[in-house]
Amino acid sequence: MLESSTKFLRCVRCGSKLELDVFKVDQEIEKGILECKKCNLIFFPIIEKIPILWDDFSSYLLLWSKLGGFSTAGKFG
Ligand SMILES: [Zn+2]
Repeated sequence: MLESSTKFLRCVRCGSKLELDVFKVDQEIEKGILECKKCNLIFFPIIEKIPILWDDFSSYLLLWSKLGGFSTAGKFG
């Protein structure tokens, strides 16, 4: 996704703007995290340029990282 697109994205829970944290950029953002400061600890991942705006994804990722399946697990620790 393009960085300029993030201004159109909103938190699915509260509707606030999301903060962008980019891990990898190649013209478009390939990997990153969208974070809602208002909800606190609500994260939405960007995977292969696609933002995943799913309410319960952060708890899913935490479970995943416990199983050793996500390389940026330290980011959430
Ligand atoms: Zn929110």
